[in-house]
Amino acid sequence: MTELQRENKTEVIVVGAGPAGISAAITVARAGHDVVLIERGTFAGSKNVFGGAIYAKAVKEIFPDFEESAPLERKLIEHKFSILGEDDSTVVSYRKNHEEAVSYSVIRGKFDRWMAEEAKKEGVILVEETVVRELIVEDEKVVGVKTELEDYYADIVILADGVNSLLARQIGLREDIEPKDAAISVKEVIKLDKNTINDRFLVNDTEGCVYELFGGSMLGKLGLGFIYTNKDSISIGLGVTLDEFTKEKIKPYELLDKIKAHPAIAPLIKGGETIEYSAHLIPEGGYKKVPTLSGAGVMIVGDAAMLVNNMHWEGTNLAMISGKLAGETAVVALSKKDTSEDTLARYQEAMEKSFIMKDLYTYRNLMDIVHDKKEIFLDIYLKKVNAFFEMFTSVDGTPKRELYRKFIINFLKERSIKGLCSDAWAILKLVWSILVK
Ligand SMILES: Cc1cc2nc3c(=O)[nH]c(=O)nc-3n(C[C@H](O)[C@H](O)[C@H](O)COP(=O)(O)OP(=O)(O)OC[C@H]3O[C@@H](n4cnc5c(N)ncnc54)[C@H](O)[C@@H]3O)c2cc1C
Repeated sequence: MTELQRENKTEVIVVGAGPAGISAAITVARAGHDVVLIERGTFAGSKNVFGGAIYAKAVKEIFPDFEESAPLERKLIEHKFSILGEDDSTVVSYRKNHEEAVSYSVIRGKFDRWMAEEAKKEGVILVEETVVRELIVEDEKVVGVKTELEDYYADIVILADGVNSLLARQIGLREDIEPKDAAISVKEVIKLDKNTINDRFLVNDTEGCVYELFGGSMLGKLGLGFIYTNKDSISIGLGVTLDEFTKEKIKPYELLDKIKAHPAIAPLIKGGETIEYSAHLIPEGGYKKVPTLSGAGVMIVGDAAMLVNNMHWEGTNLAMISGKLAGETAVVALSKKDTSEDTLARYQEAMEKSFIMKDLYTYRNLMDIVHDKKEIFLDIYLKKVNAFFEMFTSVDGTPKRELYRKFIINFLKERSIKGLCSDAWAILKLVWSILVK
């Protein structure tokens, strides 16, 4: 069949109405082109899970005035890093109420839906409750998608179908995720009165707070926990690398229950009612696992392209900006009437110049080093931080010099001088690879 004879043909199809897909679709629509955005959920955001925070700078690039009408929960003004021991904790906290917000907590079910409605206002055709089953490929070029109902054709298909991206795998752009390259995360939303949240987190009605949690039930495992304050609920969860679960018979929600019961956390959520429970994968492979981002007639954006900066907990911003860059590339390709592999490779070039690939490159060696040393960094050293402060704050008549000596001797029993030198060397190598190209 020639293209002219085809029914159900549009200029661009975007699969997946998360932040990446919506940003790609709206960029194409704003340039005056036809774009269909296909989402499997009953509405955009209905299936989406995150911590979480959206980052104002990235959102503004797509929705310059979003602060006026988007469903935002709280402006995040405090970031706490908390190391949980058995029954103690050490917290480092940074608080600043920037005039221009850096990030906001949001509920994805509300926020993604708002973004999708804005996209519709700008001409994006949103098709919900429709699963794209596979891509249609002719002469090694992606020319459309098959849904359970119909086949749809397009000059360009943008894959924004999230971390599993069966579609990118179908055409060989991506491989299956290895267990060490993804974290399984579980999250609960706990309803709490607004004033209770304000009192417990020392914020007012519009301000909010983030906790990054280390250790606790995740001690020695490659995993992190989080707490975000919403208007009248708390999001609490954790993500642990999948391969931890192949080694040990533990379940993610058992780890979360233990975190919720920790003496430093339980008072924060006391009296709350769990109103939502969800689980999702987070891509963690970093720079080395980012696939080729385009092919003939196709581009891949957001989590589908493994674009997550796990060091800084950034994902939605990478999704939105990659979506925007893919959308811009689609516009150039449509105006040239050339959607070949070479033309769409401009998207890869734009990505290399953006903060996205630069940041992922900066942390390219992080996961290798962390995997090598995780039992040491995430068990011995984390425990020692709490042990140090326990020693430092103790007042039991023991002379302080004796306390310090005892602490150091105990430390060296767990980690030899040779081991310490090898850890210092690993850290130096990591810092070198972060700071020097
Ligand atoms: C627990 C957790 C906490 C996180 N915390 C943060 C945070 O605080 N800040 C942050 O910036 N990032 C965070 N992230 C990462 C962030 O959520 C993702 O990076 C971001 O959602 C990626 O956006 P996306 O549009 O690429 O994919 P998604 O948001 O996953 O959207 C993909 C969309 O595609 C749809 N879809 C999938 N397959 C098909 C199909 N075949 N047909 C039709 N539709 C389909 C899905 O229903 C979904 O709507 C977190 C992630 C998790 C799991």
